[in-house]
Amino acid sequence: MPSDTNGVHSASESQTTAHTNGHPDAKTTAAATTTAPKPRTGIAYAPAPESVKVEIADHYGHFIDGRFIEPKSSRKSDDAYFPTINPATEAVITRVAQGTESDVDAAVKAARAALPKWSALPAVERGKYLFRIARRIQERARELAVLETLDSGKPIKESRDIDVPLVAAHFFYYAGWADKLEWVYGRQPAPVGVCGQVIPWNFPLLMAAWKLAPALACGNTCVLKPAETTPLTALRLAEILQEVGLPPGVVNIVTGDGRTGAAIVNHAGIDKVAFTGSTDVGKKIAKATAGSSKKLTLELGGKSPHIIFDDAAIDQAVEGIVQGIYFNQGEVCCAGSRLLVQEGVIAEVRKKLELRLASLRVGDPMDKNTDVGAINSKQQLDTINRYLQLGQDEGAELCSPSTSTLPSKGYWCKPCFFANVQPSHTIAREEIFGPVLSLMSFRTVEEAISKANNTPYGLAAGIWTDKGSKVLEVAKKLQAGVVWCNTYNKFDPASPFGGFKESGFGREGGVHGLRAYVQL
Ligand code: NAD
Ligand code: MN
Repeated sequence: MPSDTNGVHSASESQTTAHTNGHPDAKTTAAATTTAPKPRTGIAYAPAPESVKVEIADHYGHFIDGRFIEPKSSRKSDDAYFPTINPATEAVITRVAQGTESDVDAAVKAARAALPKWSALPAVERGKYLFRIARRIQERARELAVLETLDSGKPIKESRDIDVPLVAAHFFYYAGWADKLEWVYGRQPAPVGVCGQVIPWNFPLLMAAWKLAPALACGNTCVLKPAETTPLTALRLAEILQEVGLPPGVVNIVTGDGRTGAAIVNHAGIDKVAFTGSTDVGKKIAKATAGSSKKLTLELGGKSPHIIFDDAAIDQAVEGIVQGIYFNQGEVCCAGSRLLVQEGVIAEVRKKLELRLASLRVGDPMDKNTDVGAINSKQQLDTINRYLQLGQDEGAELCSPSTSTLPSKGYWCKPCFFANVQPSHTIAREEIFGPVLSLMSFRTVEEAISKANNTPYGLAAGIWTDKGSKVLEVAKKLQAGVVWCNTYNKFDPASPFGGFKESGFGREGGVHGLRAYVQL
């Protein structure tokens, strides 16, 4: 589908398809039309999400103290703004401001000034704001999904059916907690204060929701920085905050790259740092905040094991494997990137996986039939390609059965897996953050557990087996924040998420997710 630099998409083609596909009994109707065409009256289909026109400005400033402002540095200077591109077309979508220390300072001051009133507001009133935000997100869901897909490269069916609904659900969930904190903690807890929140590009709006919703419910004020490749949905959220009348300064959004993130982390006016991103940057932030009074939570990377026992329902397990590693192009911190298959079924799993990969559609993320979209950036694609080469150099066998024809522009990686992988191989140890799976075998339950835990990470794990007792035994022994059983990559705002070991500390979601944002 053609998309111009404004990101406005032509509607005709996709809408026609949507009509037929969306029809509950498309076949019967088609057959009926040859004899007696009966036009339906009073039933109109809503436009398909991918045909929603999204207005995008020529450039964006920061959102500080309730207003969009020009960056502090001179507008004319070259580095005051930088482009954000559509990774599926390499077209520039728009330009956003590169936040300087003085921009960050203005945002922190606005958050500080807003804190006394916001935290003194009756909790039930804070909850109402969160409910309004959640409802407005639902109302603008299609626009947000399109924008998310344009800016990040993720398939529209994922941004439409997973990201944006989860964003609304997260605000609804924490709206409900706002006036029940006394019940959780025995008395009304004080907020931590001004929170500096830095997030990654793989789930741009969802990560913003995970950071903002619990912080606001507990009466904190925030300075949020979206990732440099995906700033647009956070800026659209800023518009929603204006629409619902959130008091100025309660949420401030500063765009920019790692330097802007560092300015937030190092600012003396920040009481708490919440970071989601790579383990490398997480370690830097842990050092930068050590010895200060700043509270810190880190949600970092992973190399999660996905264990298939020989008594599992193999067809379902293969679907789970696909969901585990190819969802969002594998750019998922909890991706099931280490596949451990019991020896007796490894040939069958491999064959079925190859078949399934051949049928995955790779390409235009705005096409609702696309399974695997574009890699988020050139830089990330280079990283993935380095690992693909390294894996082969180390002696593993690369299998990439996809038959999709890739678009000529954009950043693409076909979903693939490595066979003959040894646990010592780099591709089995390091996070690739792409649609690349490492296939390994095991013989006994003990071997599965020890191989699964043989990693510096500990974010998530998956188990496939027919036996409930095995699920309980293995799950207990896995060092992972989340263990999925006979499913994978299921998210719910009520369920806490977070890591062991080098995957970070702190939990987001659930009643646990409140803890980092209250002072007891
Ligand atoms: P990244 O660490 O490079 O960047 C994350 C954010 O930190 C970006 O906004 C970036 O601008 C900012 N940043 C970069 N350098 C900084 C510095 N020195 N100080 C402060 N901020 C800085 O990570 P990424 O490549 O954007 O994201 C991918 C990583 O995030 C993966 O490793 C993935 O596992 C992890 N991740 C973890 C979770 C989780 O919940 N555990 C969720 C999503 C992604
Ligand atoms: Mn982008």
